[in-house]
Amino acid sequence: MVIDYNSLNNRYMQKIAVYSAKPYDKSFLTEASKGHDLEFHFFEDSLSEDMASMLREFEVLCLFVNDVVNRSIIEKLSSNNVKLIALRCAGFNNVDLKAASEYGIKIARVPAYSPYAVAEHTLAMILTLNRKTHRAYNRVRESNFSLNGLMGFDLNGKTVGVIGTGKIGQVFCKIMQGLNCRVIAYDPYPNENMQEIGIEYHSLEALFNQSDILSLQCPLSSETRHLINSESISKMKDGVMIINTSRGGLIDTEALVKGLKSGKIGFLGIDVYEQEENIFFNDLSDQIIQDDLIMRLITFPNVLITSHQAFFTENAMKNIAETTVMNINQFLKGDELENEVKAG
Ligand code: NAD
Repeated sequence: MVIDYNSLNNRYMQKIAVYSAKPYDKSFLTEASKGHDLEFHFFEDSLSEDMASMLREFEVLCLFVNDVVNRSIIEKLSSNNVKLIALRCAGFNNVDLKAASEYGIKIARVPAYSPYAVAEHTLAMILTLNRKTHRAYNRVRESNFSLNGLMGFDLNGKTVGVIGTGKIGQVFCKIMQGLNCRVIAYDPYPNENMQEIGIEYHSLEALFNQSDILSLQCPLSSETRHLINSESISKMKDGVMIINTSRGGLIDTEALVKGLKSGKIGFLGIDVYEQEENIFFNDLSDQIIQDDLIMRLITFPNVLITSHQAFFTENAMKNIAETTVMNINQFLKGDELENEVKAG
């Protein structure tokens, strides 16, 4: 058999612009694209208006949670012939879906990659805040073996309120049941399997009133924006623990600060923050941070902030990269897009 090396070398490679690309994105996407005719071009910055106007050679873009794709960016992308935005995440609140549909740009996402990763990180935040292992770690390194200020509480028997029992919420409910907590939930679409294993569905009001720990596992939408606000906080138990590993916009951060200052909120764990766009995923250690709200939050001893890392496990990264490659290939072949997101 004669192999035509020229034709092999001249294979048509589809160019894809990958924004907000960190070293780990490069390695997982490169691995997942082996054997496919895809040529990823990695850009470390988030997609901006200026970049959107300059993109001439890419029909496909690959974006992440904080790449904002508003109407004005959609217009620019469309005039540069962009046809597909492949999101490397589950949430799509950063994209104006209506504008994308009007301009004929398809949006695909990775609906599920590891609900375990996010649910387990939620547990890690609860345990850290409760048992103060972050403080103990630092103390012991300074030869301070005192226990003053490190007292926690038993999770056994506590009431955990879960808002949203989709893929992540379900795993989280089971984890908390395993710790012998009473798990109550709110979801506009209660899940029968959850009810069968003893998860009680109640109104939001009841969750606010009864929960010792309240965890947000629902998407950000016009309906859920600032679900946690001054009014809902006032209905909560004194000393409540609030955990948000979903989206920053679910919480009115100023109301949180007030709740923390008054002692109404006893613990706060957030993996997401409403204004995280220009902060999270970046090393800003030599800069003066202008966001006073996050800097105030950081000062509370009972607040734990992680930088949108709940998804970040090896299993999840592999699944995200493989599904992204599949989404792009389906689009290029003209197949139906299994993971397409459409406007309302
Ligand atoms: P999912 O779509 O499987 O489940 C979402 C659930 O929320 C559904 O059951 C839905 O009925 C429910 N819901 C919708 N509106 C609601 C409302 N008003 N009140 C209460 N519940 C409501 O999604 P998922 O995979 O479980 O992910 C949940 C969210 O977690 C995502 O939307 C995303 O924002 C966030 N997330 C965060 C990370 C991270 O790294 N921190 C990673 C992945 C996902």
